[in-house]
Amino acid sequence: MMDTQLTIDTLLVRAENYFAKKQVISKTSTGVTRYTYADFAKRTRALASVLEHLGVERGDKVGTFAWNDHRHLEAYFAIPSMGAVLHTINIRLSTDHLKYIINDAQDKILLIDQGLLPIIESIKEDLPHVKAYIVFSDEEHLPTTNLQPVYHYEKLLETGNEQHVFPDNLKENEPAGMCYTSATTGNPKGVLYTHRSIVLHSMMLGLADTMSLSESDIAMHVVPMFHVNAWGFPFASVWFGTTQVLPGPNFNFKTLGDLIETERVTITAGVPTIWIGLLNELNTNTYDLSSLRSIVCGGSALPKGILRAYKEKYNIPFIHAYGMTETSPVATVSRLKSYQEGLDYEEKLDFISKQGIPVPGIEIKVINEQGEVLNNGKEMGEVLVRGPWITDSYYNQPEKTAEAVKDGWLYTGDIATVDSEGTIKIVDRTKDLIKSGGEWISSVDLENALMAHEAISEAAVISVPHEKWQERPVAFIVKSKTSNANVTKEELLDFLALQFAKWWLPDDFIFIDEIPKTSVGKFLKMKLREDYKSYTMS
Ligand code: ADP
Repeated sequence: MMDTQLTIDTLLVRAENYFAKKQVISKTSTGVTRYTYADFAKRTRALASVLEHLGVERGDKVGTFAWNDHRHLEAYFAIPSMGAVLHTINIRLSTDHLKYIINDAQDKILLIDQGLLPIIESIKEDLPHVKAYIVFSDEEHLPTTNLQPVYHYEKLLETGNEQHVFPDNLKENEPAGMCYTSATTGNPKGVLYTHRSIVLHSMMLGLADTMSLSESDIAMHVVPMFHVNAWGFPFASVWFGTTQVLPGPNFNFKTLGDLIETERVTITAGVPTIWIGLLNELNTNTYDLSSLRSIVCGGSALPKGILRAYKEKYNIPFIHAYGMTETSPVATVSRLKSYQEGLDYEEKLDFISKQGIPVPGIEIKVINEQGEVLNNGKEMGEVLVRGPWITDSYYNQPEKTAEAVKDGWLYTGDIATVDSEGTIKIVDRTKDLIKSGGEWISSVDLENALMAHEAISEAAVISVPHEKWQERPVAFIVKSKTSNANVTKEELLDFLALQFAKWWLPDDFIFIDEIPKTSVGKFLKMKLREDYKSYTMS
């Protein structure tokens, strides 16, 4: 067979040749930009030509510091197609982490949303490798800024070559993208994606048994483009000629509801907190969601209560996926097998809230501390994963690599059970498991049960130190603003006692206004643990 290379420029060329009339719809700070893939391709080529002119060479890192919009999408394709590396930077990191990752990656140029300029201005003295700044701007002129040299993106593109030709000798194993894990402890860890890993992951997103993303979809990317490449959707969408909807800066739940209704979105993806928030919005305002065929949910466990609410109120099914920065990210998808369609409704919901089986191309095993492979559906062990879009190392971090990659498998740090069908169920991250009297308690199971209660909007369960049992669970509860039902500690205990053994029940329930969140919207349990480390049971 021919040894043609799986490179990102070929995805762009397909959209250019066959989907020139299809659209990208992008919300900006001043309105909505609509253009075709023909326009997109011209601007992307022009961007590559100006970056080349500014001195970007093969293998150089170019950072983006931006929300989800059409300019960011152009950067997604221009940078790898010219042989450079797209480094998507999480806009919500602390300035210390920002300095660390921009310097660790040695970004040569930064592309920055105008609204985010002050953050980069505040750290510019500590970015010795950055040679130029380009500002994504909706205004005619840039605001006064102390960044130097600085360019207005649109003005720069006018000087570019819309017919710019990409190098024809790109190799599929060259680096194309880069992402850092959002560090909960220590410095963030960098993962380099190759052209090949991104192309194969994109192809997987189109399979009928995964997301079945196709030309006929209208895909709205809610996952930030700085969070594991918006889970790969922008790459796959261009390749397949899918219409794309990009919700732009500072979007809120109203924006999401409006865009789904007006643009007739068919598929969208995001972490559970997004779908919890949209559900609250839907309780207050009405939107026509009838175009949505699926919501892809991942990044944290999908609570059964959310599955149920969307199914029963709006008839929208979820596609539940599991993965991490290191796995590009999609490693498993939870779908019923054809012979499971006969399960009863509750069993189906339970099944979908598990993480499912590996997608084609990926292998997974769950092992206990003795290294034995588990499949009895009960014993918990660590999830190991391997495949062509799983990282084999952390950038510049040989020690962290040696800890995480052994015998060709990535040790994920996630704890799961696996049943005889091969279905994995993540019970916790290693650091979140609660060990009470020598037995494990899954905080995720307790949280999911609590979030299925009609009076609860969010719930997080952490361990607190205990003299006799070493650790005991304590639950943090955010009451639903829209439900009339009130709830007390005693009622919650009775509610959980129907589903869990007595020793699993939290020793306390603490009502708070909001669960602290990570930069990508997941519950930040580390903060709760810190805030409540000297907590003693009442
Ligand atoms: P970070 O590691 O910085 O949180 P990632 O987005 O890479 O950023 O997070 C990956 C982790 O998120 C996984 O290791 C796992 O613990 C959790 N995760 C991802 N998807 C799911 C899911 N569907 N169910 C439960 N946990 C999930």
